[in-house]
Amino acid sequence: MQLMAVTLQVMKHQSSLRQKITLGYLGYYALAFLIISLSLFTYFELRLIEQKIRVGERIAELFDVTLEIRRFEKNYFLYRQIADFQEVRRYASKVDELLESSAADFSGLALEPQILKVKNEVRVYRALMAEYLKAGAAETRQTELLEAQIRKVGKDIVAITEGMAGAERLLIRATLDKFRATLLISIALLSLTMIVIGWMLSRLVARPLKHMDRCVEAVSSGRLDRIVVPSEDSEIISITQAFNHMIGELELRQKRLLRSEKLASLGTMLAGVAHELNNPLSNISLSCQILLEEVGSCDPEQGKELLEQIDEQTERARKIVRALLDFARDKPVKRERVALAALFEDVLLFLKGETPPNVRIITEIPAEIVLQADRRRLEQAFLNLIKNALEAIGESGEIYIGAARHRLTNESFVAKQGHDNRFLGKCYPGVEAIDIEIRDSGPGIPVDVLPRIFDPFFTTKDVGRGMGLGLFIVYEIVEEYNGCISVDSESGRGTVFHIRLPLESADGSRQ
Ligand code: ADP
Repeated sequence: MQLMAVTLQVMKHQSSLRQKITLGYLGYYALAFLIISLSLFTYFELRLIEQKIRVGERIAELFDVTLEIRRFEKNYFLYRQIADFQEVRRYASKVDELLESSAADFSGLALEPQILKVKNEVRVYRALMAEYLKAGAAETRQTELLEAQIRKVGKDIVAITEGMAGAERLLIRATLDKFRATLLISIALLSLTMIVIGWMLSRLVARPLKHMDRCVEAVSSGRLDRIVVPSEDSEIISITQAFNHMIGELELRQKRLLRSEKLASLGTMLAGVAHELNNPLSNISLSCQILLEEVGSCDPEQGKELLEQIDEQTERARKIVRALLDFARDKPVKRERVALAALFEDVLLFLKGETPPNVRIITEIPAEIVLQADRRRLEQAFLNLIKNALEAIGESGEIYIGAARHRLTNESFVAKQGHDNRFLGKCYPGVEAIDIEIRDSGPGIPVDVLPRIFDPFFTTKDVGRGMGLGLFIVYEIVEEYNGCISVDSESGRGTVFHIRLPLESADGSRQ
């Protein structure tokens, strides 16, 4: 285990992925070498066992032959049949033949001395038998002595071969046991080495790559976050650097694109402003002309009315110019902790004077929802949305304002993109967010109007009532928070705006 820790430490300090992979390869080569060695070892060990079995078979045969000698020897002493004597001789020669033919198998073995002993004993046995035959059939003192000697030598021969056969059997069994144990240990060691190498490769090579894959996937789904891969490998570091550089470039281009888009909409706005300013200016000019023409003779009541009109139109022009300035100026965003419930309370207070008595406003905003945001900008966005809802429902109806942490799933936002409904912004999957819903029971938005409602200066309201900048500004503000907005509406079915503000702000800090 200690060795493994040391290897891991060494591998960790390798600063290149290639080195680690090479180390892994070396590990697998070593493994392959071990497997080949084990196979060779198994092969030779099996050959050795085979040889031992062959020797065992020879010894067993030897033992059987000596038993036969003893059997015919007994018969001979019992019945004095010459045929039995001949059998004894034949089997004794067979012992010699066996020892002769197995000389190669027996050479160098531990039982060589016993084999030599059997050879000698068989020779003695033969000589004694020949002497016995020569002494004749009569039972004399000499033949009795010879018979006893023969029996003893025969017994010795059987005892030796029996001992040899037993010892060989034990030897084969021990060899097999040793072989089995060696094989099992080798297989266990090999498997362990394989697991360790695989684990090391996966920990040191696959893991950073997997992490990188996840980061890249997040980027491909639209998040331009810098990736941080916890690895010291030179390849991963350089890929990460190149990738982060690419993200930087992308961000820069995106900003440039946004700026040019903003410039384009500024152009559109300027055209719109010029057009919009034209009305109050011509009204002012008309009122001034009337006043100039009727100076001195003018009815004070009419003069007052004209002056009021000039004041009203000047105020309208001022509003238009302020909206333009608000849009064009790169205002520093002032972020502070903003309690959403309190913010909506203030907004509804601003609109109290414009809320007809038969309009019911229901709010469901948990007090604990707090955002890190520019209060004034958020107020402006919600004010525009609620004002639109109030204007849509007229004298009686209902407005529902709700907020929740992840009240909507991302799918519900995405699903809206496919329909006639409008979806704007870039909401990423899996980002923690506050979802705000503003719903009204008004007449809804006709299908042909829906795609244009976020465009600057698009309005369906009468001249002087709407400038068509409300939703455009709402979208601008939502975008500042990397959020998204969707609208779900149909003629005669009311309107619902969903706004998602991610808790992770654009600069990456959590709100
Ligand atoms: P304005 O309110 O000055 O017209 P907006 O950008 O706020 O400009 O809205 C654009 C248009 O979207 C409105 O003129 C109106 O037709 C439509 N609209 C916005 N909100 C609603 C709503 N809640 N119900 C019905 N129509 C709406």
